[in-house]
Amino acid sequence: MASKIVGRRACPWCGFEHAHVKESDKCLYFYCPGCGTNGPHARTEAQRANMARGMRPEGSQHAPTPTPAPPAAKAAPAPAVPTPTPPRPTPAPAAAKAPAEATPTPTPAPAPAAPRRVGFFQF
Ligand SMILES: [Zn+2]
Repeated sequence: MASKIVGRRACPWCGFEHAHVKESDKCLYFYCPGCGTNGPHARTEAQRANMARGMRPEGSQHAPTPTPAPPAAKAAPAPAVPTPTPPRPTPAPAAAKAPAEATPTPTPAPAPAAPRRVGFFQF
């Protein structure tokens, strides 16, 4: 069987950096001299594409091909959730409680203050 090395890639089993990706007359396959794995035999186009991913073509060992990012890395960032700011009751101005004669224009009575929220959001 005349097979030749078409590229190199790291071995997923032992981590050897220059494991062989070989082309035979039937398929593209993986062989690692580091651990002896005589590995996956890619026969379909999709399998061959997977085998070639991250492979350095033979003869250009110092120029690794950029590995496309796995789809899992493209997870959408979580949408920013605005933190709710609790409404703070504004203290009633002292002038509002004074009799109307203190100011020439009568001020409308302030709305009753909302019950003060205690503790939960006020760190
Ligand atoms: Zn290996």
